[in-house]
Amino acid sequence: MKITSVKTAATRGHGMHLWVKVETDAGITGLGECVHGGKQAIAIIQNLAPRLIGRDPFAIDAIFEELRRSHVFDGGFAGALITALTGIEIALWDLKGKALGVPVYELLGGKFRDKIRVYADCQVEPGMNFDEIQQVVDQVLERGFTALKIDLDIHAYGHAGSEVAGFTKDKFNYTAGQWEHERMVEMVEMVTRAAGKNVDVAADVHTRLDVPSAIRLARDLEQFHLLWLEEPVPAENIDAMREVTRSTSTPICSGENLYLRHGFRELIEKQAVNIIMPDIPKCGGLSECRKIANLAEIYYMPFAPHNVSSPIGTLASAHVCATVPNFLVLEFHWLHRDYWTTIIQEKTDIIQDGYITLTDRPGIGVELDEEVARQYQFPGTTWFE
Ligand SMILES: [Mg+2]
Repeated sequence: MKITSVKTAATRGHGMHLWVKVETDAGITGLGECVHGGKQAIAIIQNLAPRLIGRDPFAIDAIFEELRRSHVFDGGFAGALITALTGIEIALWDLKGKALGVPVYELLGGKFRDKIRVYADCQVEPGMNFDEIQQVVDQVLERGFTALKIDLDIHAYGHAGSEVAGFTKDKFNYTAGQWEHERMVEMVEMVTRAAGKNVDVAADVHTRLDVPSAIRLARDLEQFHLLWLEEPVPAENIDAMREVTRSTSTPICSGENLYLRHGFRELIEKQAVNIIMPDIPKCGGLSECRKIANLAEIYYMPFAPHNVSSPIGTLASAHVCATVPNFLVLEFHWLHRDYWTTIIQEKTDIIQDGYITLTDRPGIGVELDEEVARQYQFPGTTWFE
């Protein structure tokens, strides 16, 4: 079997969802999704496509590594080039599973578990009172989720809430004043009270704090038994993250903006966090993230992938989650996007009662409904040309 074409399309959603379709002379097609590569990822895939024509699509790891190393001067360590390769990689896994008639998890070593626990990212906004928070939490719990995540920070970079008085005198400064610190602690208190003790709550700070502000927050949150506190300090400095992690019993989680196992190596080896959160359809794909999870497992470090993808990228991520021992929970970020079920041909929610149950269907296991997806076509992009 040989690859005959590589085509792309892009849909609006959480930013841009880039679809990569790989076709073969056997008539078998694979579809991959990647996120946060920007329009430049489309151009990269179109430039790489001629090198894929005529290749054996089963040599997935070798194709990925060959293309990556040959572009090491053009972003082969991190960023859009890796995300573009990720879209191709996931399409090749879908294709290989379909060609062999097996689900992708069987090709990745088989399952540790049949059901993948999912948490919902939910929109608790700064300034909400307890009743408003209870309403948001109840909506999530009614759908069967047993874990959820909130944003603790007030978005300082131009999003809603940036005008809230008293937050910060300078949007680039990382120091939380007393008012801001107490607001964050109070928010966690209200959300954990609304959720109850059977529900796990994670809280994201989006890298907004300096080390003393982060340590103070993490310590004051210990009483609420969070699932994790996410990226309390800027994630570029692993030693700063490690200092926070070592100072508190609140578990610290990071990694949504790292790429490849090389990008995670120092974070894991220094045990600078308690939990890692690679974004699988962004940072290197299924093979690479399975390797990242295995590296973390040496330190008994849980693997809780970040995920903003459609059902296709989410299910692709779930195949990896099934095949590693240290999986904790997978993110779901489409709570308020009503095409979550209509964008796939199956027209059902892949998440039932807070879990994804992996099936025996070959490949990833769901198909994009291109007609529906095209209604959300990303402006300025072409459609599978
Ligand atoms: Mg985050």
